[in-house]
Amino acid sequence: MPLLPSTAAAAAAALPRLRLRLPLPPRHCPQPLAPLRRAPHHSSPHPRLLPLAAALPPPPPEELPPSQATGLVAASQANFMRVIVDAAAPGLEHHRGSDLLCVVRALLKKIRRRVLVGDRVLVGAVDWADRRGMIEDVFERRSEVADPPVANVDRLVVLFSLDQPRPEPATLTRFLVEAESTGIPFVLVFNKAELVDEQTITYWRDRLKSWGYDPLFLSVDQQSGFSALEEMLEGQTTVVVGPSGVGKSSLINALRHNQNISEEDPIHKLLEQNSKWFGEQRVGTVSKKSGKGKHTTRHVSLLPVAGGGFLADTPGFNQPSLLKVTKQSLAETFPEIRKMLKENEPSKCLFNDCVHLGEHGCVVKGDWERYPYYLQMLDEIKIRETIQLRTFGTKREGDVRYKTGIMGVKQAEPRLELKKHRRVSRKKINQSILDEIEDDIDDLEDDYWFDAKRHSRR
Ligand code: GDP
Ligand code: ZN
Repeated sequence: MPLLPSTAAAAAAALPRLRLRLPLPPRHCPQPLAPLRRAPHHSSPHPRLLPLAAALPPPPPEELPPSQATGLVAASQANFMRVIVDAAAPGLEHHRGSDLLCVVRALLKKIRRRVLVGDRVLVGAVDWADRRGMIEDVFERRSEVADPPVANVDRLVVLFSLDQPRPEPATLTRFLVEAESTGIPFVLVFNKAELVDEQTITYWRDRLKSWGYDPLFLSVDQQSGFSALEEMLEGQTTVVVGPSGVGKSSLINALRHNQNISEEDPIHKLLEQNSKWFGEQRVGTVSKKSGKGKHTTRHVSLLPVAGGGFLADTPGFNQPSLLKVTKQSLAETFPEIRKMLKENEPSKCLFNDCVHLGEHGCVVKGDWERYPYYLQMLDEIKIRETIQLRTFGTKREGDVRYKTGIMGVKQAEPRLELKKHRRVSRKKINQSILDEIEDDIDDLEDDYWFDAKRHSRR
């Protein structure tokens, strides 16, 4: 019998004690998870879909055996996750709010159930004395952000600055479109308000209003204008996104300092306390196949904020990929178009799949400020989709390049050297969260077969 590598062995050893939740028919599944699209890999011409099993809601605490608990993944580092317990079996309620250092059950990786910071999870094989456990299942997920990888995000803060750097309408639009495409509610915030005069603030307020947004203005430096934002963050899990230099890290630090939260994430302390176990559980840090270090996933933590909410300590999408935006869905990410379509109800564009280029029978007019950006992004997406279809039989990003055209508007055009480009864009896509899953699985499989072979040779 081939021997299993240590994580798989630990999972296998834990099996009889688990209530195996995954194969059970869901009691009810109010929000089935949309399958995650996975980046193409190796020679596969089509993207495979992640076969996420239907996720269940958490069980009532009285159904939990003493060896299990439910909780929130508050931080991840390498193979380890810090879980804050929110429910435990009767008699163990005093553990609520305490931390468990957990590994993820190998089976979850096998079936491609990725555990993210922000997930609510079922922890099994809990050692209450040493505060350790194993994540056995992930409960239903309301939303997820890929960059940084955080689940159950309630709100995005799209941060720009009024000066140093100044807001750039094209970049602003790109971030807004990306934020709209996540479906997660967001607030647009302008930082560095102390660097500009009142007129400039009024100018941007009015301009953004005409786009359909109602931004907040604040200064992290002066600690002014925070209260409206803090109110919004109450009880929410928030991710701050925006271009570099606008003050995202400063804002995150200011919000955490306001709460007097220790600099040290408890995961470090937990890892230290459990260093012996940590050593045992480690399944090799370098992939045998690629020789690359694995588990290079950025360390992400959720910081508690006032009112019971959380703030991701790592800012997100520095470079909006627009990967989730299709040529059909782009229009929905512009409030101006949504408004025009609504105002014209019940009449609609003549064609159902109208992309609003001002054709005959289109109710979307072209007399609004951001129309050129809409057209430019539509171009980019169309080219991407065409090339993806032609090259890979599917749609993926990275197959266009940009030329600065009239009025400084960037024009998208297809890349010519497809074969060469293919490698480049793969590398780019490799950074995506979905490839990380694949790497993890590949590595796990490598480890498994490597160990199995080694042991069978003995
Ligand atoms: P990030 O790249 O978006 O994370 O931006 P950082 O938080 O690193 O900030 C970039 C620069 O802007 C730093 O030099 C900060 O000190 C500065 N900065 C942040 N907030 C403010 C502010 O409210 N006013 C001014 N004048 N500078 C700020
Ligand atoms: Zn139309």
